[in-house]
Amino acid sequence: MNRQIRVAVAGASGRMGKEVVKMVLGDESLALAAAIDRSHEGADIGVLIGQAPCGVLVDTDLERALISSGADVLVDFTTPQAVWNNAVVAVRAGVRPVIGTTGLTKEQIAELDKLCRERGIGGIVAPNFSIGAILMMKFAAQAAKYMPHVEIIEYHGDQKLDAPSGTSILTAQKIAENRQELRQGNPNEEETIEGVRGGYYNGFRIHSVRLPGVFAQQEVIFGGFGQTLKIRHDSYDRAGYMPGVNIAVKKAMELQGITYGFESFID
Ligand code: NAP
Repeated sequence: MNRQIRVAVAGASGRMGKEVVKMVLGDESLALAAAIDRSHEGADIGVLIGQAPCGVLVDTDLERALISSGADVLVDFTTPQAVWNNAVVAVRAGVRPVIGTTGLTKEQIAELDKLCRERGIGGIVAPNFSIGAILMMKFAAQAAKYMPHVEIIEYHGDQKLDAPSGTSILTAQKIAENRQELRQGNPNEEETIEGVRGGYYNGFRIHSVRLPGVFAQQEVIFGGFGQTLKIRHDSYDRAGYMPGVNIAVKKAMELQGITYGFESFID
């Protein structure tokens, strides 16, 4: 049997982090090397996820945890404020980053790619690890070739820190690659309430809805003569992201530099 991939999880006691810990503990080809979080220092992460103790205690110091555990991969589901520093610490320690946390800028991703290549390692930054969401983005990019008038509405819980969502930005980028920049709407349009038309991207609009009770949804609406096309994805459970994270952890071991977007692994 091949050596197990040693996985550290940052944000291990958060909502996504706990699912990642469960996924790692449930896959014999992976070993949980470390669990890092701001809170719960010293607690057994197995107990925190509602299972038997697994012997991995929560550490609050990422660098110490990565070096002492001999981690191969760091999976990060923390916060937009913490993720950049975490990623740099990981790459400098020779640990491959798999980043699900949203909020990294294009420039930061390019810098991370450079740092990874200097170290001869690779990693993945993916704003969405769910297969249904990836297909939604692919279909939207395809539709944009034929129906260039488009708006995106994304829905998330009201405690989400960044807006628009990383998924909507990635969808917008993919749409923009498939259509000429086109400033939509009436050129004389005026907003009587500021921001009501949403964020402007490459001539079209992105709208971010934030409400309690919502998990993660996105609708891409195309308008043409006498017709509209709506492509919609709804996520209901964090476990739905884990098959994607599992594949990403394994792929990260073979990559050089940063791959952006999980869709690179889906034909
Ligand atoms: P969450 O429940 O708030 O979890 C974040 C965890 O990170 C918390 O336990 C937090 O600790 C911890 N943390 C904060 N700063 C840290 C640091 N410097 N080092 C280590 N741990 C730190 O959030 P979530 O719902 O799991 O979401 C996490 C991120 O994943 C968000 O950016 C979200 O948008 C993103 N996300 C991505 C995908 C995807 O498919 N890529 C899917 C869902 C969510 P405290 O509680 O003490 O602050």
